[in-house]
Amino acid sequence: MDTSFDVIVIGGGHAGCEAAAAAARYGAKTALLTHKLDTIGIMSCNPAIGGLGKGHLVREIDALDGIMGRVIDRSGIQFRMLNASKGPAVRGPRAQADRKLYRIEIQRILTEYPNLTLLEGGAEDLVVKDNVVTGVCSGDGHTYTAKAVIITTGTFLRGLIHRGEEKIPAGRVGEKPSIGLALTLEKHGFPLARLKTGTPARIDGRTINWTGLEMQQADNPPVPFSYLTDKISVPQIDCGITYTTSKTHEIIRANLHRAPMYSGQIAGTGPRYCPSIEDKVVRFADKERHQIFLEPEGLDDPTIYPNGISNALPIEVQAELLASIPGLENAKVFEWAYAIEYDYCDPRELTQTLESKRISGLFLAGQINGTTGYEEAAAQGLMAGINAAILAGAVSRETMTPFVLDRSEAYIGVLIDDLISRGAPEPYRMFTSRAEYRLTLRADNADQRLTDKAIQNGFAFKDRAQAWENKKADLAAAFTLLQTTLQATPNELERHGIAVNMDGRRRSALELLRYPDITWDRLSTLWPDMAAITPAIREQMQADAVYAGYSDRQETDIMAFRKEESLQLPVDLDYAGLGSLSTEIRLKLEKIRPATLGAAARIPGVTPAAVISLLRHVKRLKRAEKSHEAA
Ligand code: FAD
Repeated sequence: MDTSFDVIVIGGGHAGCEAAAAAARYGAKTALLTHKLDTIGIMSCNPAIGGLGKGHLVREIDALDGIMGRVIDRSGIQFRMLNASKGPAVRGPRAQADRKLYRIEIQRILTEYPNLTLLEGGAEDLVVKDNVVTGVCSGDGHTYTAKAVIITTGTFLRGLIHRGEEKIPAGRVGEKPSIGLALTLEKHGFPLARLKTGTPARIDGRTINWTGLEMQQADNPPVPFSYLTDKISVPQIDCGITYTTSKTHEIIRANLHRAPMYSGQIAGTGPRYCPSIEDKVVRFADKERHQIFLEPEGLDDPTIYPNGISNALPIEVQAELLASIPGLENAKVFEWAYAIEYDYCDPRELTQTLESKRISGLFLAGQINGTTGYEEAAAQGLMAGINAAILAGAVSRETMTPFVLDRSEAYIGVLIDDLISRGAPEPYRMFTSRAEYRLTLRADNADQRLTDKAIQNGFAFKDRAQAWENKKADLAAAFTLLQTTLQATPNELERHGIAVNMDGRRRSALELLRYPDITWDRLSTLWPDMAAITPAIREQMQADAVYAGYSDRQETDIMAFRKEESLQLPVDLDYAGLGSLSTEIRLKLEKIRPATLGAAARIPGVTPAAVISLLRHVKRLKRAEKSHEAA
């Protein structure tokens, strides 16, 4: 048996799969060591990929030739573009997955991947010499050597399931926790702390009364995640929608003392943006009902995932709670809801490549770094995999430098920068509001931003490179046509019923697409050549045209922030008067009262957009003060 590798990835979750694929794609002799080969790629919680901010990450992973986008395209059973009525910058592709198909597809891809060996077993310890990692010891007595090791153990480090008063040591339901590795990290001085997350019960869809429930359909046609997918061929299904009732809320309030988060049994912080139903009832006490999506888990699986009611109440209370929800009165349960508490490592321990500062060659990626969600995990896995391969010397180039992305290039850059500079005092999930460059970091243009980097650095396969070269040529041809060839004077435009300022200036088709009332179809009547451009290229040209002007302003904002980082914030600043800030951010600023703009920006949860608003507000105040003094 081969026991010597360039890179060993511990864990076959979403970070681990992407890390192993990236390192192997880069040419490193890679091993993926995970508890059970059959659980590789399992979705521990909701069977869905993407969403706002998260969908952007999946497109970026795909643009860097990662696997997540292609896997969900082959297993997605309800594709929806969230925020479809809003601008492309905040649209979020999302797809509900057939849980079994997703796992099978990931396993199929990894089994066929070049340079990759899949190993079954638990990692118990690391081999570390002079602060350099040189291998991994497994529970079955093997020692594997490696030049770089990536730990992606998710919720498994000292995982503890809570359900009412019941406590079960587990990494997720039915799987043992990882204790040895937690002790290893502790022994080497890594600061570990506790976080918590939760999942709802799984219900037998055949026992739900669907009559009268709202139904939500998939988009038609479904829009794929991967730039390599032409068309989604998996059948698309509907989801149901129901709501909690006042009775549900009464049951929860009456049993809060038995909910581990409220009884004091759980110490770890839970995900603010994906709260449990107990949390929602307490925090939003005046809300009469909460929405629940009834999401089928597969095409040939009766299991329904009731999205919106994760909890850790005792089983008998859960049964009462479900019976109080329209449609679920007689629902049978396959698996009861639970919460899980686990160790995570403060990501400020890591560099921009996700390598540990403490032990050279050791990388950490995924939920172990305090994030929540498959997409955040996969994005980190990909970056750790690439950099581990580089460090292991798999790339035979003389001047290979670490591969990093900054905040202006990708959501992946925002994610890693946030983690390593601010830490994750609460489970971190991606939102579009976390990015200061969100008008240019769109889900539609991730390939334009990133695929050349993947090709130039040598970690994209040939099919990706070829597809991108073809698309790039189409984009360039469309750009030349719309910007240079197709132009008209105001008089010519007027003859075709298109009104612009009669200033005699020729306008290009690209410029005209920026006008809110001028559509592609309308211009195609004037310039029939435009009708021949494919829908994908058309969409891209339209989005690029619309955002061209905004990107410059964005650049100016960022430069202003960098220049004004040391700007003093008045000690008595009235944050309540800053209407553009969310209540959550206002409360944080009021409590902490940062001394400078830079200090405000470093407070976890304070978004770049909020910092720019704060900067403008304080500048306005200072200007008003000056003119008052002058008067
Ligand atoms: P995981 O997917 O957890 O994978 C870890 C892998 O490491 C597994 O394959 C495991 O077998 C392996 N492993 C662990 N220790 C060892 C070892 N010592 N040796 C070998 N292999 C090992 N996310 C959300 O976005 N929203 C939610 O509401 C949400 N709720 C959740 C509820 C529950 C109960 C759980 C368990 C997770 C939830 N998640 C939620 C989180 C989501 O599952 C994770 O964010 C995501 O799976 C993290 O990916 P990962 O690759 O970091 O870890």
